[in-house]
Amino acid sequence: MRFDTIIIGGGLSGLMAGINLMQRGQRCLIISSGQSALHFFSGSMELYGVEGCPMEAIARLPESHPYSKIGVDNIQAIIDTVKPFFQEIGFIFNGDSNVNHYRITPMGTLKPVWLTMEEYAHVTDRNNFPWHQAALINIEGFLDFHASFLAAGLGKLGVESRIANVTLPQLEHIRKNPTEMRSTNIAKVLTGDVIQRLAAEVNLATNDAEVVIMPAVVGLYGKEEVNSLKDKVYKPLRFIPTMPPSVPGIRMQIALRHFFQKIGGVYLLGDSVESGIIRKNSLLGISTTNHGEMRFEADNYIMATGSFFSHGLRASADAIYEPVLDLDTVFGGARSKWYNEKLFAEQPYMKFGIATDNEFHALKEGTALQNVYVVGAGLSGFDAIKEGCGAGVSITTAIHVANTIINKSSNGTEQK
Ligand SMILES: Cc1cc2nc3c(=O)[nH]c(=O)nc-3n(C[C@H](O)[C@H](O)[C@H](O)COP(=O)(O)OP(=O)(O)OC[C@H]3O[C@@H](n4cnc5c(N)ncnc54)[C@H](O)[C@@H]3O)c2cc1C
Repeated sequence: MRFDTIIIGGGLSGLMAGINLMQRGQRCLIISSGQSALHFFSGSMELYGVEGCPMEAIARLPESHPYSKIGVDNIQAIIDTVKPFFQEIGFIFNGDSNVNHYRITPMGTLKPVWLTMEEYAHVTDRNNFPWHQAALINIEGFLDFHASFLAAGLGKLGVESRIANVTLPQLEHIRKNPTEMRSTNIAKVLTGDVIQRLAAEVNLATNDAEVVIMPAVVGLYGKEEVNSLKDKVYKPLRFIPTMPPSVPGIRMQIALRHFFQKIGGVYLLGDSVESGIIRKNSLLGISTTNHGEMRFEADNYIMATGSFFSHGLRASADAIYEPVLDLDTVFGGARSKWYNEKLFAEQPYMKFGIATDNEFHALKEGTALQNVYVVGAGLSGFDAIKEGCGAGVSITTAIHVANTIINKSSNGTEQK
């Protein structure tokens, strides 16, 4: 089967690239093994996690950083499209790229971020909270949300919290087995008329609180439940991310995939690309686990396979390698230098990834593959955790590469 562009990996970066290319007339295939980092999404997107202006920090990054390869003006043009796009597919985000705001973590600490889903707890001024009395609601038996940690953290920020457990008869059957009390299973129950019951329980527990804060266990398949609960709870309602799986992250993954398919994209879920045939610095075709001998071919290919977490990168005893095409990788020295024994220190391995030229062409044996691009978490040269730039790098590299492919195709310089 032949496409204009084949994208390997259907997480945030693969889907953003695919949607962008489809919207500009290309025919795209996304092949994705399974779960992506969106299944762990916090409700906030990070561009660059500094106090103040992320773009100023981005302008000072070294040449090897993916952002530096895109350039500040191109990044700005891309990120200006992000909020309107997500609004179109049903996600309203607060925040902008001029100044970071703060999301409230499950530990009750503040983290500077670029965009936060409007229903999530976040503040613009760390010294001036809009509320000082909070009701922290947990669902009885739900172990993936630690209200006491949150209360302690909020206390240090000057917000007094009262914890209340609520329960509903509809949750009884999953509560019998504690391993079933996961965010997504709870969210499957908290729909329709059950929202009314939940709101009644929440309202009973709020007393004189100025805000109600609860774990993000509502709205797995759409935002209707979130809106319905917000309408029925008397006080302002804010969500806090839970331990995985992330209910809003899965909703976003599904919404992006559905949108890609709605505009004509082909998405193969649960299949893995195993290998490819490379001749004269070009990829001719790829094979997948489920399709055996059948070869998928395209003019261009995008590697959006993620980092170690998604098996886009793997480690052997003495090397970091890319398992599909055996692309060049950037990693440093002996294994003992890959990590820092201090768990919370900067970890060198976080910057390891696939090597590319400045246009994000993948390198193989030192030479750029002319029709293979790399986007997202699998790229080398950045540390998504320490720098706080995960979603930002994924989205901007994806759209930048889509722009490159479109420009090259329209200039007629693309290799066939
Ligand atoms: C646990 C976790 C939580 C995070 N939370 C946040 C957050 O809240 N906010 C934020 O800004 N950033 C966050 N990040 C950073 C994150 O890396 C980016 O935000 C972004 O979601 C990464 O998207 P991606 O598409 O590049 O990679 P991934 O999301 O890792 O997606 C890669 C996809 O490729 C597929 N794949 C891999 N190999 C193959 C193959 N051979 N064939 C077919 N498919 C393949 C995988 O199954 C996966 O679906 C988080 C990262 C992690 C690891």
